[in-house]
Amino acid sequence: MRLILLGPPGAGKGTQAKILVETYGIPQLSTGDILRSAIAARTPMGLAAKEIMDRGDLVPDHVVNGIVSERLDKDDCAKGFVLDGFPRTIPQAEALDGMLTDKGMSLDAVVEITADADVLVSRIANRAKESGVARGDDNEEVVRYRLNVYREQTAPLVEFYRGKGLLRSVDGMEAVDTVTEAIRHAVHG
Ligand code: AMP
Repeated sequence: MRLILLGPPGAGKGTQAKILVETYGIPQLSTGDILRSAIAARTPMGLAAKEIMDRGDLVPDHVVNGIVSERLDKDDCAKGFVLDGFPRTIPQAEALDGMLTDKGMSLDAVVEITADADVLVSRIANRAKESGVARGDDNEEVVRYRLNVYREQTAPLVEFYRGKGLLRSVDGMEAVDTVTEAIRHAVHG
């Protein structure tokens, strides 16, 4: 199973990706998690990405494309994967197409998790409080900025993947279990 989860910050991509990992025994490829690990390990890539992430902008396409291309070559991706937070721009989606073709892989579906912007702002504020882990990009001002970045740079992927016949949409405002079931249905028909 090779899936992309698409949706604004706070829509539940990470939560649903973790459930898909359990269901299908495939890895979650989260570029955000990989970048945060790089920041924690103080690698040159992490140091360069930190300021960009803290202000809610996207790190350059070539950086995340490189991360994903390397990650797809790992053995655990042979059975499939769920991409969470990548691609986020049309050039990234085009780069992914090229990578998958080169590696002899193809996508099964792109699941868009839709959500209401105001609910997302409060959800993310709760995530910050409950986890107790300060993500530099989880304060309200940055979240609103990230939602704008999503609208401008990532939302065009919905039409991109609809055009390829891969897009499925689920309502991310429902309870976690309901969303999981909708994804299962969307993927298997
Ligand atoms: P996430 O954990 O997916 O919400 O990502 C957190 C932050 O990491 C984003 O706001 C971006 O700054 C950066 N990031 C993660 N994935 C990407 C991507 N595919 N392209 C560019 N920046 C990304």
